[in-house]
Amino acid sequence: MLLAEKPFGVRAKGLFVFNLSSLHLLYYFNHKDMKLDILAIAAHPDDVEVAAGGTLLRHVALGRKVGLLDLTKSERSTRGTVPQRSQEAHRAAELLGATIREQLDLPDGFFTADEASLLKIIMQIRKYQPDIILANAPDDRHPDHQRAAAMVVQAAFLANLVKIETIENGQIQPAWRTRAIYHYVQDRTCQPDLVIDITPYIDKKFEAIKAYQSQFYQPDCTDPETPISCPSFFEALRGRNAMLGRQIGVEYAEGFTVARTVGVRDLFDLV
Ligand SMILES: [Zn+2]
Repeated sequence: MLLAEKPFGVRAKGLFVFNLSSLHLLYYFNHKDMKLDILAIAAHPDDVEVAAGGTLLRHVALGRKVGLLDLTKSERSTRGTVPQRSQEAHRAAELLGATIREQLDLPDGFFTADEASLLKIIMQIRKYQPDIILANAPDDRHPDHQRAAAMVVQAAFLANLVKIETIENGQIQPAWRTRAIYHYVQDRTCQPDLVIDITPYIDKKFEAIKAYQSQFYQPDCTDPETPISCPSFFEALRGRNAMLGRQIGVEYAEGFTVARTVGVRDLFDLV
């Protein structure tokens, strides 16, 4: 258990070194620069930008290392092609200041919580060792969102089981325990458990969203319309962020729900 819960103890206390196998030590030294503070996981590229882009921008500004993981390449979305969407996703990640963006190849619209799919997510969690994971809304308009939400919770739990062995580039990945998972509020309105002030980052958030030129409103685009391609979508989203901001007395905010009780060390961290 020591290994699973304290893999970075090796840096803090020499004693832990003797509790780690040489394989795990090798993995640790090869990956210490890859560790992320926050890994934002989504069923589709653009989910995170829309629902939690401001939160990522805030944490990057605070010096946190953030990354993105898309479970699918959104190959069945009504507008755009996979190469186009991939290019847009990488541009958006750049605008958010993310360190990495990975895309798995789970089937858009049809992925399920089978062993092979869960193992792919587990490997990414172990590779990037995030303290916090952001995940899709557990109940939302697009059925992929709720399935992704449940799979991420499951994969994060399984990533900490030492007897589930995963190998990356010939090295055994150490088990990893993520401290917290927060589900970003998406299309469906719900009461958030946690609201984050994104006021200074609202314009930059929209800049990142607009990197997805194939998905959102373009006056001369002849592709079929979708619920997010109409011009009122941006207005609705800004309104959502403003409504959430009102709840905590700031201009704009993003909301999250959590399965477990939220704990803080410092009451002054609360707005
Ligand atoms: Zn989506």
